[in-house]
Formats: sequence, C-alpha cells, structure tokens
Amino acid sequence: MDRSAILAAIRAAGVVGQGGAGFPAHVKYDARASVVIANGCECEPLLFTDQTIMAAQAVDVVRGLCAVMDCAGAERGVVAIKAKYAEAARALAPLLAGRSVSLLTLDNFYPAGDEQVLVREALGRSVPPMQLPRVAGAVVANVGTLASVSRALTGTPVTDKLLTVSGEVARPSVLRAPLGTALTDCLAACGGPTVPDPVYLVGGPMMGRFLDSAAALATAVVTKTCGGLLVLPRGHFLHQAATLSPEIMQRRAATACIQCRYCTDLCPRHLLGHDFRPHEVMRAFAAGGLELDLGGPAAQAAMCCECGVCELYACPMRLSPRRINALVKARLRENAVRFEAPKELREEQVRLRPWRKIPVPRLGLKIGLEAYLGLHPAYAGELSPDRVRIPLSQHVGAPAVPLVVAGERVATGQCVGEIPDSALGARVHASIAGVVRAVDGFVTIEGDARGRPS
Ligand code: SF4
Ligand code: SF4
Repeated sequence: MDRSAILAAIRAAGVVGQGGAGFPAHVKYDARASVVIANGCECEPLLFTDQTIMAAQAVDVVRGLCAVMDCAGAERGVVAIKAKYAEAARALAPLLAGRSVSLLTLDNFYPAGDEQVLVREALGRSVPPMQLPRVAGAVVANVGTLASVSRALTGTPVTDKLLTVSGEVARPSVLRAPLGTALTDCLAACGGPTVPDPVYLVGGPMMGRFLDSAAALATAVVTKTCGGLLVLPRGHFLHQAATLSPEIMQRRAATACIQCRYCTDLCPRHLLGHDFRPHEVMRAFAAGGLELDLGGPAAQAAMCCECGVCELYACPMRLSPRRINALVKARLRENAVRFEAPKELREEQVRLRPWRKIPVPRLGLKIGLEAYLGLHPAYAGELSPDRVRIPLSQHVGAPAVPLVVAGERVATGQCVGEIPDSALGARVHASIAGVVRAVDGFVTIEGDARGRPS
C-alpha cells in the first residue's frame, strides 16, 4: 500500500490517537520523520490497557507501526515499553527481528508515556516547548492506535475500545467494549463498586476526569480515548484535590505556598530543558487569582501538560499548581492571549532528569492508591450491550456530521458520522448492529435484540 492509500484507510476507519486527546490519526501521521516511536509506556498507576493490547495484539501493533513508518518515510522505528512488561516484550520481540525496529525498555517512572518525555528517552534530544515531536524528527503513536491502524488497512473501522476497570470494584478487569457502551455497564460487568459512596475517574489517576455521582456516570460512555474507569471512595485524596474551588486554591496558594520550587524542580517539562517555572505561576495566582496579569510570568502556564506531578507528588504543602496552570491556560484562551514559548532548551536542567524521575510505586503510595497497587486486572472479554450511545465528537476537531436518522437500521462498522468539509475531524461508525433511536450529538442505537424496526 502506498502512503496516500494508507492515510486514506486510516481516515476511512476513523482512527484517532487513543493515548491522549484523540487527534485524528490521518492528519497526525501525514508527516515526515526519521523515526516513529510506538508508545507502550502506559505510565499511570492502575492501568493495564496498553499492556494487554501489546501482549494480545502484538502483530497488529507492529504492522501498524510499519505502516506509520511508511507514511513518515522513517528509517527506523522504536517500540518503547516498560522493562517490567515481560509478557508484552515476549510477544513483540520476535516480530521485530529483521526489521529496522528496536525495542526500548524504560524504568517504571511517571510520566514515561508523555510524548515529549518519550522522545527524550528514545532519541536523547528534547522537543522545544509547545512544539510537536516531529520538530525533533519523530512521530509518536500509542500502541492501541497502531493496532487500530493495522485493522484500518484491512478496511475495519474503529468500533470498540479496551479499558481497565479497577479500584473499588468487585472484579478488577480489562474489558473490550463497543464504542458508546454505558460506563455503568462496564462497571456492572466487573461486579459493581465495593464502597457505599463511590466517585469515578475516567482515565488514569493522574490525568483522568472525575465523575462525581452515579448520575454523572450514567451519562458517560466508552469512547475511542477512554482507557480506564477507576472507582474510589468519595473524599479520597485525589477527589479532594480535583474538586477544590478556584477561590480556595488561591487562598491556599497565598497562605501556604512557600516558594520552595519543588513544583518546578520535579516538573517533567522543566526537566526536558523547557524554560518553565510553575512556582512563578503560583506566585502570580496567589496575588491575583483569576484576575492575574496574563502578560506576566503567569502566561508560562501555557507550557504545562497537566501531568499532575507538581500537585500530586512534588508540592510539600499539597497545593494545586496543575489545576492553577489549567485555569490560567483557560484564561489565556478566553482572552486570545498568545504565549510565545522560549525556543531554546536549557540542558543544565536536563542533566538532573535521571535523579528526578518519579517511581510509579512511590507515586501510587503518595496519592493514596496503596490498597489497589497490588491489583492485576485480568482480561474479562468483550461486552455485548443491547444499546449504545456513540458520541459524534470523541476526537480533536469538529464533531462528525450525522449520516443517519432515527428509525434507520445500521450494521456494525457502518459509517454514521462523516468529517465535515474542510474541517479537522474523524469519522464515527456504528459499534453494534440495530436501529438508530436518536441523533442528538450522539447516535443512539438499540441492538438487534431490542431494536426491531418499528
Ligand atoms: S511546590 Fe508547592 S509550596 Fe513549593 S513553590 Fe510549588 S506550589 Fe509553592
Ligand atoms: S502539571 Fe505540573 S509538573 Fe506537570 S507539566 Fe504542569 S507544571 Fe509541570
């Protein structure tokens, strides 16, 4: 298959980046680079999604990697995993023999799976602040995305997602679920919560999004980027940290930030050589709150990737630099303030990296996950929901334009949402066969068991 045919197949299948925000893959991989890095360094505690993909779908991962290398014109590929993923290494290593692809094994640190950190680990050079890996000659692709790319080459669209369900659940598991499956169905398949008043994290414990109630969970569904559902008791440290109001965050910053600069010294972006000092953002926010001067040091918050190291690991006063950076970034966007990041890299900061990587087990203890660190969710198979609610927007860019109407019968894999003309976006496909019941930003399908045409 030539380059344009590969990209067309990826576009047609609705592949998006599964490890992050869901950037449309046919756009991301339409780039030239000397190396393509398969990112199998799932680094947040408790998640087993990418490990399972690598162990069970190694052939697809490597085939997808080779296709993306062809697109990029890359001379070589790297499969980056954690050294502790022995099963994944056993599955992958024989497939790499005779190819210009090497296996890179990293220690168990956070955030090893961050694209920019991975480029540094694989190539020994940093991506400048707010730039893409291609500036350093690399394309980084999540292993789940690569498995989807492989299936796209045979005309199979993205219709399901693997996710880890863990924490306070009866049977922690890795599940495969059709897109649009209710997260309540995923939770029920794992025996339900084991605490009386749970809260839910969609994603990992460091960068996931909290759903505060059963009602909020009931509206949430499996998407192309949903890698985990974690259940925690209400009032857990992570839940408290995620729900402080801006006013309380400012009061705490003003009264308790001792300007020790641990948030800066352990910041993974700072340690890549970026001229970024989050303790200065804290100082500005403590003084001005949401009305802070966006033309001053606060604007460097634009360089924050919101990994959470500062807030959940580094800060001795348990303050909220990550969330404050996120608030400042939102203010920058609202006010159309464009931050010009310094391009030069400070190698004297990078020299400290080897001693400042965060060991994942220690991170897990620090953020209150000690009860769950020993869990090893087993693969529990594939869910078969009788109803799905598939979002038309589960990617970066414009929502897909619906191609179906209520009452229409659809087959599994049928395209139900098209990329709008001249817009960034991704196609959306039916994840089960049945009848469309509603089209309202989502495409709701009742499966054949329940969805007889009426
Ligand atoms: S680590 Fe905490 S106390 Fe220290 S400068 Fe940063 S926000 Fe302030
Ligand atoms: S969340 Fe904190 S540690 Fe992570 S990049 Fe932002 S400032 Fe740095």
